[in-house]
Amino acid sequence: MGASGRGNGTAAECPSRVRRAGRRRRHDRDADAGKRGSPDRQPARVRGRDGYLHHPRLSLQRRRSPDDQFPFAEVDPVHAGQRLCRAAPDEGGLFPCHRYRLSLLFLWRQQSAGPRGEFGMTPPDIQRAVFSDFEPSGADFSFKLIANDRQARRGRVTTAHGTVETPAFMPVGTAGTVKAMLPGSVAQTGAEIVLGNTYHLMLRPGAERVAELGGLHRFMNWPGPILTDSGGYQVMSLAALRKITEDGVRFRSHVDGSYHTLTPESSMDIQRMLDSDITMAFDECTPFPADHPTAEKSMEMSMRWAARSRDAFTNRKGYGLFGIVQGSVYEDLRHRSIQALTDIGFEGYAVGGLAVGEGQELMFSTLDFTTPAMPKEKPRYLMGVGKPDDIVGAVKRGIDMFDCVLPTRSGRNAQAFTRRGTVNLKNARHAADSRPLDEECPCPACRDYSRAYLHHLFKAQEMLGPMLLSWHNVAYYQQLMAGIRDAIEDGRFDDFEAAFHEERAGGDIPAL
Ligand SMILES: [Zn+2]
Repeated sequence: MGASGRGNGTAAECPSRVRRAGRRRRHDRDADAGKRGSPDRQPARVRGRDGYLHHPRLSLQRRRSPDDQFPFAEVDPVHAGQRLCRAAPDEGGLFPCHRYRLSLLFLWRQQSAGPRGEFGMTPPDIQRAVFSDFEPSGADFSFKLIANDRQARRGRVTTAHGTVETPAFMPVGTAGTVKAMLPGSVAQTGAEIVLGNTYHLMLRPGAERVAELGGLHRFMNWPGPILTDSGGYQVMSLAALRKITEDGVRFRSHVDGSYHTLTPESSMDIQRMLDSDITMAFDECTPFPADHPTAEKSMEMSMRWAARSRDAFTNRKGYGLFGIVQGSVYEDLRHRSIQALTDIGFEGYAVGGLAVGEGQELMFSTLDFTTPAMPKEKPRYLMGVGKPDDIVGAVKRGIDMFDCVLPTRSGRNAQAFTRRGTVNLKNARHAADSRPLDEECPCPACRDYSRAYLHHLFKAQEMLGPMLLSWHNVAYYQQLMAGIRDAIEDGRFDDFEAAFHEERAGGDIPAL
């Protein structure tokens, strides 16, 4: 349903409007009673609850004003009680509310810019999405390659819930929330897609519960695209008593000790119930280090699970399934994995089994022989990566999508990512520093607060510290991605990369 469609909504479609109209009638009745001058009812009402609102000493007889006071503001009964819901489209201003409610993202966009100007990072697609009904747009799932700069790619992924400009960084919303951030804040950083974790959501609150409540978009109030992982990786890293068989993984919940089984089929089912735009195939993340026979055995099982995932995936317009390339750091295994996945056919391809302790050099050298063998016409997603310099290096090697908990996790631990490298705000050097964290960053942490205040928040263990620094870090990552996209489009990615490393090498601004 498009924004224009809701302009025709009637009061019958808008429960909040009906409710407000009801309240208005009740107040109007009281006012009418007063005007009729009912001598019996007026004192009783003043003595009651309304006495706090209608103090007897403020009442004036026959609605006349004394000479030293302004007259009463007249209430226009046509508009009374409607607030943000307007009756007619010709009145301009805010859009009429749709049948659920005004979205938080919508309200964010109505906020005035504040004394220092527009935050200015809300991308056009989020502006489109905030008017959506959390329902699929009807668009097909697609990937468009817009520009190349050698291996680096500039593209656009279209999903049921909006588009994603690539290279893209996806903030991680583990349990249905990007920790310490409102969805509107996440959108304001420029993020267009967030990641949800199947493992966490299946255990709490449960995929069926999320489905009953309208899917993850509506549940977490994020109308844009969502990618969910398959649950496999976190079963391996979090759950107790894991038992891996050809069928799947049986494990005990880290939350309450209950037993669960994840299989390719159940993982697809859970991700469908979450209403994930991009579903990840169920796989085994091969641990590092793994010798060649172990990595081969693991990869081959993941490829069988990929085929079962494809069979179990429900094809829906605008929704896609990504296969995951495994094979550890071995070229022959990675190539065999890509061949197996492309034989099955997926809407996108992820590189798994990296960012598991192998180090940047080995990650890059693995990508060097992996991405050139991957389909060019499909998006490529490097799972769980990473630090800013990991991302720049992986984009250079042909990766389009990234996710990592680092910006939010580091933000909660007083570590800021900036164009000059990382800054630890717990460090005493910031205690009296009135300068912003980064004078060029438009995020609220940098725009409205000093390093000294951020330092104080973390020292005092105030929750605003993690909130502000999570916002800054996610904003920094999105600024980085926007810079990367522009550079690829302009054919100057090498210059961008050189400037990126040079600025970081200079380090943080000198202490005062
Ligand atoms: Zn900032």
